[in-house]
Amino acid sequence: MTSRAQLRLPQIEMRCSWCQASPGDPCTNQRGNRARRTDTHTARRDLWVIATTACPDCQAPAGTGCSAANGLPLTGVHPQREKSAADEHARAVEESSRNVQGRAERPR
Ligand SMILES: [Zn+2]
Ligand SMILES: [Zn+2]
Repeated sequence: MTSRAQLRLPQIEMRCSWCQASPGDPCTNQRGNRARRTDTHTARRDLWVIATTACPDCQAPAGTGCSAANGLPLTGVHPQREKSAADEHARAVEESSRNVQGRAERPR
């Protein structure tokens, strides 16, 4: 079952390294008493981007953080990697919605 949050915020499958929100739970503020429903912490988004996508900029493979041109680890990810992950996710969502429609068709 795919919720709308998962479609829009696929990073919700990761544990947030910032607020420690569990996979599937929305990010919260530091006291844990207010859920963020429309976005997540950037750190969580970056985790998801890193876990799912190789970087077209610095060539870091999926699962490895970006590094800057001087070889030092980057804080966050390159913008191209973020875009690549978002594009890939949009394609996957489109693909799976097509599959659902395909299954709904009855064979003659
Ligand atoms: Zn968070
Ligand atoms: Zn990179």
